[in-house]
Amino acid sequence: MFKKILIANRGEIALRIQRACREMGIKSVVVYSTADRDAKYVKLADEAVCIGPPPSGQSYLNMPAIISTAEVTDAEAIHPGYGFLSENADFAERVEQSGFTFIGPTPDAIRLMGDKVSAKQAMLKAGVPCVPGSEGALPEDPKEIVRIAREIKYPVIIKAAGGGGGRGMRVVHTEAALLHAVQTTRAEAGAAFGNSAVYMEKFLENPRHVEIQVMADQHKNAVWLGERDCSMQRRHQKIIEEAPAPGIPRRVIERVGDRCAAACKKIGYRGAGTFEFLYEGGEFYFIEMNTRVQVEHPVTELVTGIDIVQMQIRVAANEKLPFTQRQIEMRGHAIECRVNAEDPYVFTPSPGRITLWHAPGGPGVRVDSHAYTNYYVPPNYDSMIGKIIVHGDTRDQALARMRTALSEMVVEGIQTNIPLHRELMVDAKFIEGGTSIHYLEGWLGQHRR
Ligand code: ADP
Repeated sequence: MFKKILIANRGEIALRIQRACREMGIKSVVVYSTADRDAKYVKLADEAVCIGPPPSGQSYLNMPAIISTAEVTDAEAIHPGYGFLSENADFAERVEQSGFTFIGPTPDAIRLMGDKVSAKQAMLKAGVPCVPGSEGALPEDPKEIVRIAREIKYPVIIKAAGGGGGRGMRVVHTEAALLHAVQTTRAEAGAAFGNSAVYMEKFLENPRHVEIQVMADQHKNAVWLGERDCSMQRRHQKIIEEAPAPGIPRRVIERVGDRCAAACKKIGYRGAGTFEFLYEGGEFYFIEMNTRVQVEHPVTELVTGIDIVQMQIRVAANEKLPFTQRQIEMRGHAIECRVNAEDPYVFTPSPGRITLWHAPGGPGVRVDSHAYTNYYVPPNYDSMIGKIIVHGDTRDQALARMRTALSEMVVEGIQTNIPLHRELMVDAKFIEGGTSIHYLEGWLGQHRR
């Protein structure tokens, strides 16, 4: 096992990784920008190294600074967390070339999955169900493009092969709008992602977002750890996640989960990963794979009892998975609410000093956050400042626990989206379960004040 790990991230996930290391008796090094000087995990770290000013490009995305910090601190491995460099194949490659272990998949696997066209082709080959669409990138010939769209049938969605973060997509309802949409998406994709390849898919009108967590070791073992429903989204940003997904028959999920684990073996995947699907009309449709730990991993941890971050570290250290698929048991129900420093209804970011922070507790309640009373939320990064995660024997109990937790939570000095979560936890449709990815935006439209 590693003696020392460098954490190349910030915020709650830096603290989460640090906790995993500490529990395993591994020393951790955190790198931080001057904006994060006062963060709790920086103070708690075995070693902390300032790597630059607040802009991410000069700190959390600064590969030479991070790698040379690993060198001077004698770290053996680098955990990239999520966001920042976590899905950057060049970074993974440079980490390994410098003699460190990258806690994540191989650079090749990251590259394969980072291009949505190659990812989809690999998944089709591995038998994972995908959204009907063009075979690979769209050709230049306008007639061909029109033909493909007719075959798929409108509405269709044009997506950038290199897209991410909900950008580089355009829905097309009629043939008249098709070619212009392809052209604009190509131009935008070229400018934003340095790759102008686009592809076409059937646009699903009212799907849910359901994803499968996988974990693979370097000894050809791969398992799936159940699913998560992340349909409560605004502008493609998830705000509530839960496991299991309400109302989907187990056998349907098992079929797709087994496919995901088999696909991992087929592509030689290692570490944690997530297969993201749209779910509509009883069918799963693959949209993309995330080759890293996700924000919402704790709901899976609470229902499976498996520590995903520790498992990432173990398989990176070449250990075998300590369980087989049959030994994985799901128990109860878990829900996560992301706490964002923002106006709860207009969503403008609300950075600044937290004058009072009181986190909830009690049975089945977990809070993953680096915030505390007097913590200053810097304006430079994502607005998420923590997560409240609850577990119950049933979904009803989890909902009740979340309501209680939200009622206890106090954050003063900045605005947060906690009032929004409180309203959603008593919303009849959410309580019923199974709302689509458009539900929250519709709800906001009706409730906006
Ligand atoms: P990104 O990497 O930018 O997150 P995804 O491929 O994961 O891109 O898609 C993001 C979101 O866009 C999905 O969660 C869904 O809301 C919407 N979307 C993508 N593809 C389709 C589709 N074929 N039909 C309907 N909605 C889609």
